[in-house]
Amino acid sequence: MEIRENIPIASLTTMRLGGDARYVISVKAPEEIKQAYDFAHERDLPVWIMGGGANTIGHDEGFPGVIILNEIKGIFAKQDDKFVTIKAMDKFDDDLILKGMGGEVWDDFVRVACDLGYSGIEALSMIPGTLGAAPVQNIGAYGQDIAQVIMSVEAYDTQTDQFITIEKPEMNMNYRCSRFNHGEDAGRYVIFAVTVKLHKGELQRPFYNSLERYVEKYHETNFSPSNIRRMICEIRSEKLPDPKEVASAGSFFKNVFVDQAGADAAEAKGIPIWRNADGSGKINSGWLIEECDLKGKELFGFVVSDKAALVLINKSAKTYHDLDRARQTIINAVQKKFGYTLSQEPVEIPSLTEEK
Ligand SMILES: Cc1cc2nc3c(=O)[nH]c(=O)nc-3n(C[C@H](O)[C@H](O)[C@H](O)COP(=O)(O)OP(=O)(O)OC[C@H]3O[C@@H](n4cnc5c(N)ncnc54)[C@H](O)[C@@H]3O)c2cc1C
Repeated sequence: MEIRENIPIASLTTMRLGGDARYVISVKAPEEIKQAYDFAHERDLPVWIMGGGANTIGHDEGFPGVIILNEIKGIFAKQDDKFVTIKAMDKFDDDLILKGMGGEVWDDFVRVACDLGYSGIEALSMIPGTLGAAPVQNIGAYGQDIAQVIMSVEAYDTQTDQFITIEKPEMNMNYRCSRFNHGEDAGRYVIFAVTVKLHKGELQRPFYNSLERYVEKYHETNFSPSNIRRMICEIRSEKLPDPKEVASAGSFFKNVFVDQAGADAAEAKGIPIWRNADGSGKINSGWLIEECDLKGKELFGFVVSDKAALVLINKSAKTYHDLDRARQTIINAVQKKFGYTLSQEPVEIPSLTEEK
């Protein structure tokens, strides 16, 4: 494992905020996760686990402990009860059980699945970050989420010091949440492998909003996984900032969920709502922000993206204090106009000192 000292969290996260982490350890094999924890325990230091930093915000005070970066690589497919490399595959059944190590880039995993012609994660193309982080907030986009295909994860249990397998029913997955980021087990497991089950075939129409609009506009008729992937990549490139060039954490706020009475009330006020079968519904927080005339507005060094109002771009801000002021301005505006309190999607690395 590689140990580095005093590394700016800003350099490890796509929002590019945050002071120094005392130690950053890159792990390239499951056993190294345990070694990294031993290193931290010997020095009585706290630990934070990180992948690509695409959903993580650092504080100005930094982190006085060990950040473990998951760089464990490998993608395998199950064949005759064994996992083999993709190159070694010589049988292609209707279902594909695909396993990737936690440090793989999520989008590389999607590309492999699509190239092999299997459906299930093609709409999740181009979501930044690692495979190990994907189940944590149950990544989702354009009508798919990883909960629909995940079978199990392999993880290091930091409480019992053991390597274990967790099956899907034990993951408590929901909108942007799971056992890994909510409740008493939040932060307990370091996920080093993820296994999903995919099917040979195509996504069925009607597709999700902007994908359906794209298909109609360009008269698309080929819905193979790799063609849906191409469309998703085009749609996303138009709307969402490329983390290599523009600093952001993607959607900064979660959508708002309301029960049936809340959905009726929202509809009566003219707020667009996606209804569930039981009458409850989801309100697009980006729409609420746009209606507050904040789209494209600059706030304390951040810009509310003029293409997708849910995305907060770090244009020139250097401090968490700036983020705090920008965030509060948006929350207050939506609260005042609509009465909903927006909640933040990205997680924050605790500074473990008093925040100003
Ligand atoms: C431009 C942009 C667009 C985005 N679009 C989407 C989208 O469409 N849909 C969506 O759902 N998200 C989206 N995101 C958010 C982000 O891509 C996802 O949350 C992604 O899963 C983050 O992966 P990461 O490796 O960067 O995680 P990190 O930011 O490094 O970590 C996120 C959380 O997971 C934990 N974690 C990380 N790795 C592990 C591990 N191996 N084991 C256990 N816990 C771990 C961390 O402690 C932290 O709590 C977007 C982000 C950006 C910047």
